[in-house]
Amino acid sequence: MRKIFLGPPNSGKGTYSSRIAPILGIPHISTGDLFRENLKNETEIGMKVKEIMDAGGLVSDDITIQIVKDRLCQEDCKDGFILDGFPRTLGQAEALLEITDLDAVVNIEVPMEVLMDRMSGRITCKDCGKIYHARNFPPKKEGVCDVCNGDVVKRAEDNEETIKTRLELYNKETQPLIDFYKNKDLLFNINSTESPEKVVPLILRTLMKR
Ligand code: AMP
Repeated sequence: MRKIFLGPPNSGKGTYSSRIAPILGIPHISTGDLFRENLKNETEIGMKVKEIMDAGGLVSDDITIQIVKDRLCQEDCKDGFILDGFPRTLGQAEALLEITDLDAVVNIEVPMEVLMDRMSGRITCKDCGKIYHARNFPPKKEGVCDVCNGDVVKRAEDNEETIKTRLELYNKETQPLIDFYKNKDLLFNINSTESPEKVVPLILRTLMKR
């Protein structure tokens, strides 16, 4: 069970993959989370990627591929994994082919206006990474995470300028991966305008067909 969740920023791929991975009994691996962990722990990688992440840019393929390679070598990945946010460039997709084979790529599709609304309202727990929406899905107590009591804040990379950069980069660098995986007969398109309660079972049913 080696799966990728593809989709533009704020398409919900993080929410879906983090819910589906425990159901399938495999780890959910988000490169964004791996980089944020490095930032938090002030590692050498964290120092290198901070500026790029704050500006909404893409971390270099070299650093990103290495961090994924190291993670996929760990014991918990032996029966599979869901990769969320990787690959994001053709270079990364080609490198991943050398590291492992895949059985499905789930492509999350969302109309642009829905994406913009989600992105502008996104707030995140600094400690556990749970994602909320300031208007549509706020934490029960303002600024406090329902799950771990951590601070819920707007991430530096969720401002308007950065959102624009991230969408442009997605269109230029990541969208070509849709055809890349379609040509390998691995792609499943999922419309994600409904709530996770409806989309998660839809994805699971789709994956069962594989
Ligand atoms: P995410 O949480 O997936 O939106 O990722 C947050 C940030 O981490 C991105 O805006 C990039 O700066 C960086 N990042 C995450 N995954 C990748 C990747 N596959 N390639 C390059 N940069 C990445």
